Amino acid sequence: MRDAVLRGLAEDGGLYVPVEIPRLSAESQERMRSLALPELCIEVGRHFLVDDVAEEVLSKIAVEAFDFPAPLVSLTETIHILELFHGPTLAFKDFGARFMARLMGFFVRELGRELTVLVATSGDTGGAVAHGFLGVPGIRVVILYPSGRVTEAQEKQFTTLGQNVTAVELSGTFDDCQSLAKRAFADSELREKIFLTSANSINIARLIPQMFYFFWAIAQLVDRAKPVVFAVPCGNFGNLTAGLMAERMGLPVAQFIAATNVNDVVPEYLRSGHFCPRPSLHTISNAMDVGNPSNFARMLDLCNNDLQAMRRDLWGCGFSDEETLQAMREIYDRHRYVVDPHTAVAVLGWERFRKNSTGEYPCVVLATAHPGKFASTIERAIGVRVELPARLAASLSQPKQSVPMANSLADLKKFLLS
Ligand SMILES: *Cc1c(COP(=O)(O)O)cnc(C)c1O
Repeated sequence: MRDAVLRGLAEDGGLYVPVEIPRLSAESQERMRSLALPELCIEVGRHFLVDDVAEEVLSKIAVEAFDFPAPLVSLTETIHILELFHGPTLAFKDFGARFMARLMGFFVRELGRELTVLVATSGDTGGAVAHGFLGVPGIRVVILYPSGRVTEAQEKQFTTLGQNVTAVELSGTFDDCQSLAKRAFADSELREKIFLTSANSINIARLIPQMFYFFWAIAQLVDRAKPVVFAVPCGNFGNLTAGLMAERMGLPVAQFIAATNVNDVVPEYLRSGHFCPRPSLHTISNAMDVGNPSNFARMLDLCNNDLQAMRRDLWGCGFSDEETLQAMREIYDRHRYVVDPHTAVAVLGWERFRKNSTGEYPCVVLATAHPGKFASTIERAIGVRVELPARLAASLSQPKQSVPMANSLADLKKFLLS
């Protein structure tokens, strides 16, 4: 596990998956009902990390990483919103990033080496990773992002920190950033000269902490008689892959809903059986603007490369910006609850699934971003100005610092080796 975490990608360029997924006993899942979130993380995480991390160390990592709440808010008896956006960057990626940063920090201290973390972001990953690693000794962080394609609030979260964090502003799309990062990881000269790793959702260390909150959600449901539908807003499918792993551990799931915006290559695959990656389109749920989801290979692997098996686990659908804005309005009118555009896509997924299904299930919607991060879209949808959380407001007033760069591996290499 230590190798997988520090490398990110395997030698052959493939993605790491756990060889074996341990099964949690019924007693273990029952015990989770009375645990606080960091304790629950230990209950789940120790099965994967037992060989590399002592339980006291894991406990310290979990307590430090998850020092914010993750409440389950019930809109009705059926629909429950798991608010994963109370961390420092107000998005669910804080879970993966904060846990991974502390785990890597522990591993590099053990090895006595200097590590460069290179991460491509379409918006929120950059902020979460930068904040996650900020000030961790022995680690340099390089954030690669597409110029002009992230919101100002997102950009400020990783361009104003300084210390061990540098932002590289690429003229290109997110897919360009992602493919450049992949080429850098595969480059033999870079591999030889620096200790380079990824921190995208491709790193297995991000998926492990993302399993925790699926169990956490179920532990908090009052009525647990029925298996649960999880509605997941998807981009690179890290969240959904973590959910599949949790299911293999014994999480009682009726169905995962893979909800996307118009970048719907996975829902299309579930429909047609053809996986056709394509350049991403820009939408209001921009953290999900992904045309070639990097966790698709892992999902296939978890489903034994069997389309029918994947169809049993996943039900997919994609939605336009108009539908998303409409859903934000309806949710607000009906429940006086404000959702960000990403979460709205998941609610839409649940509503469509419900119309197409005969079963009666409770649904947990993963709420992935704080609405305050998308204030102008929310104002457009519901005419209400949501308060910008203080943390975000503070970073907005700082000056942006970034290194502009062409879409060129040679330039990136020069920068990384300097
Ligand atoms: C990253 C992100 C997603 C997509 O998550 P994946 O794990 O990449 O599928 C959804 N919503 C928000 C707000 C995000 O930042």
